[in-house]
This record gives sequence, C-alpha cells and structure tokens, in this order.
Amino acid sequence: MLEEKSSNIILDIKSVDKSFKKDKRQELLVLKDINFTMYEGEIVALLGKSGSGKSTLLRLIAGLLNSTRGEIFYRNKLVRGPAHGISMVFQQFALMPWLTVFQNVELGLEALGVPREERRERTLKAIDMIGLDGFESAYPRELSGGMRQRVGFARALVVNPDLLLMDEPFSALDVLTAENLLSDLLNLWQEKKTNTKGILFVTHDIEEAAWVADKILIFGSDPGYVRAEIKVDMPHPRTENDEEFRKLVDHIYTLMTTKPDVDEKRVTEYRPKAIGLGYRLPDVEPGVLTGILEFIYEEHDGRCDLPVLADENYLDADELFAITEILEILGFARVQKGDIEMTKQGKAFTQADILKKKEIFATQLLKNVPLARRIRRVLDERHNHKASRARFLSELEDHLSESEAERVLTTAIDWGRYAEIFAYDSNTDTLSLENPN
Ligand code: ADP
Ligand code: MG
Repeated sequence: MLEEKSSNIILDIKSVDKSFKKDKRQELLVLKDINFTMYEGEIVALLGKSGSGKSTLLRLIAGLLNSTRGEIFYRNKLVRGPAHGISMVFQQFALMPWLTVFQNVELGLEALGVPREERRERTLKAIDMIGLDGFESAYPRELSGGMRQRVGFARALVVNPDLLLMDEPFSALDVLTAENLLSDLLNLWQEKKTNTKGILFVTHDIEEAAWVADKILIFGSDPGYVRAEIKVDMPHPRTENDEEFRKLVDHIYTLMTTKPDVDEKRVTEYRPKAIGLGYRLPDVEPGVLTGILEFIYEEHDGRCDLPVLADENYLDADELFAITEILEILGFARVQKGDIEMTKQGKAFTQADILKKKEIFATQLLKNVPLARRIRRVLDERHNHKASRARFLSELEDHLSESEAERVLTTAIDWGRYAEIFAYDSNTDTLSLENPN
C-alpha cells in the first residue's frame, strides 16, 4: 500500500530554501523551508503575493536553478538540472519570430532528437489539440496574443510532458481569451488527451485557482513559505455561483490578506501592524487609497467583502493585496474573514475635506511608516533641512536589494509629498522641508 502510494508521487519537495546573492556579503532569502508533495492526477495552483518566490520555486522544480538547502525529487529522482518529463509554460512565450507556428512547436522535439517523420506527426497533433489547426504556416506576428500563447502551450505539450509547470500562463491575456484557453486545457486534461500526469501552475487569479485546482498552495512572503495547503474536493465542472465555491474563494481571500499571526478571535483588539524601516511598502498611489476607502464607505457602509471589492473596482489579486496591506499598515482599515472593514481613522479620513485629509494622512504615515518618519527626522535635524535621495537609498540597501530599495523609497517619497510632510525636487533628487511647515 505504502509502496503504491509512493510510486504515485510526481513531485516531492523537501525542506527547500533558496537565497540569492544580494551583494558580496549579503544573501536574500527568497524561499524558506518549502515542503510539498504532489501526486499523479493532481492540478495544483500556487497563489501568493508578487515577490513571494512562486516563479523561483517553479524554476527550481524545472531544474533551472539550484536550491540553497533541501531537495526536490521528481519521480523519486533528485532534480539536478532540467529533467526529461518536465515542461514549463511561461507568462509570455518567447516564440521565434522567423519561424512558423509549425516550426516553433517542433522546436522542442528537435532538441530531444525525435526522428523527422514522428516530429511532423506529433507537431501537427499538438497544434490541432490546442486549436490552432490551419495556422501551421503562419508567423507569430500574424497571430493574436491568445493564439501566440496557444503556440506556447503546444510547444510545451508536444514533448508529452509528464509534469507541466505553468507560470502565470494566462495573465498577459484578456479575460475571455484566458477563460477559453483554460477550459480548453482542462478538457484535454479531463479527457486524458495528453500524457500529462500533473499540472502545477502559478496564478494571481483566485477564482481561476478555485475553478480548476485539486490543491491550492498559498504562499506567504518575506521570505516565501507555504502558508496553507488547501485540498479542494469539489467535482468538475465547478460553477462560480455555487455556495461551496464562494466559501472556498472567501477562505482563500482571508488567508491571503490576514497576517498569519493574527488570532482571529482577537481581531477586535486590532492594532496596526508594526513595520520596520526596510519594510517592502506596496506601491499604491494615495489617490487610489482615497478612492478605495470612499468606495467602501459609500457603497458598502464601511465594510466590504474582498472579492466584491476586487470585482467592482477591477482589481487583480496583486493590486487588491497591495491596497489592503497598506490600508492596514496606515491603520485605515483591517481585514478579517474575507472582509475589509474601515477603522475610525479610515472613516474620518474619508469624510474630511482635502486639507484635513492630508493632515490625517500625515499623522498616520508618520505614526506607522518608519521610513517616512526617518526621512522627516533627518530633514528636521539638519541645518538646511535638506538631504539627498541617495542618503536614504543607501540606508535602505542594508535591508533590500537595489531595485527594491529604489521602489520602496519612491513609494515613501510619493506618500510623504502627498501628506506634505516634506518636499522633493526630482531635478536634483533632493528632499527638503521647503513647502511643508
Ligand atoms: P513571484 O514569482 O512570487 O513574484 P519571484 O520568485 O519572481 O516571486 O521572486 C522572489 C524574490 O526573489 C523577489 O524579491 C525577487 O526580486 C528575487 N529574485 C528572483 N530571482 C532573482 C535572481 N536571479 N537574483 C536575485 N534576486 C532574485
Ligand atoms: Mg512570478
């Protein structure tokens, strides 16, 4: 019995850490202690905020990167490099513009040394399977984005992968095209028209995950880890209006928006999450925050279901989480059980006129965002009340990679300018107290 079970394991990830070199001395830990087992016949969806290491994990599994610690076994064999049997679909496929659809799909087989006649047969079959019949001799530039992505799928499927990895394969497509492609893929899978025994895909679309997956992995961030593994025992086809489906979606939203250490029963005593100087502030413009708060206040009386908030404001999951995260940090709202609820400060902010709004924002910003506080203090203490952007950048680089430091500082400066707690001259990259008092 045990033996049989282990032979059904496609993928076994054991205590995997991954860090990248940040500079000569420092390492950036991106994935921490990942443990996960995937069985034959499973479709697994991987959800998590941007930067939580999802793509990195896929690249580790595909053998494109090496782990820093731990092991990954594919079919009981240690992964040491690209493994025969695993194919990957990327967000945007790099099709060769000078090759036809047929030649682009055939490419994967040439690399495997498949004889010409068999190549031809399998290529035509894959093209047919993915609904590109008749486009064999077209060039990529003649195809729509959705069709190009189909070529990408055909190229991944033509090698008959045992395990198919997909990294946000639909996110560059419009909603309808994505849904079509996904349901086509699901049909192929259910009718067993491919040899594929497992699909692991990254998505930022929660409903997409709930719609197709047998298991959903939810990643937490900084460093990335498996926060939850949800087994979904719901028959296909699933429908979005089904009660159980809605419950699942709500459950995922909750997991993705609450802090892991929050005790659900004590959230009434909620305090804004204390963050450090090098915290990865999500980059959301003040105007967006204002708009969202107004929406929650006016349309939903100060409390709103997260999926509804996302839907009615056309937010994808990344945007939604960035917004809820910063609203929580600033103390304007809190998230619990799949709902977002405005705090007293949030309501006061929404009702205030523009001047008062800036005042409230300034208070919350200085109170809750150490980086904003630090900038203000340095400016206050200096004789000329000026400091270069570079001064704060280098301080942030002790905590973050160069590009993250750049992004986080830009965000803090935008908010500080909105709140008028300091001014910024982008010609000279200088912060000052020129306008504010
Ligand atoms: P996700 O796919 O969840 O958005 P990624 O796996 O792309 O996240 O990235 C996770 C973190 O690892 C990010 O902070 C990113 O900047 C960092 N990272 C990814 N690849 C590299 C690399 N080759 N070198 C340095 N840092 C990297
Ligand atoms: Mg990614």
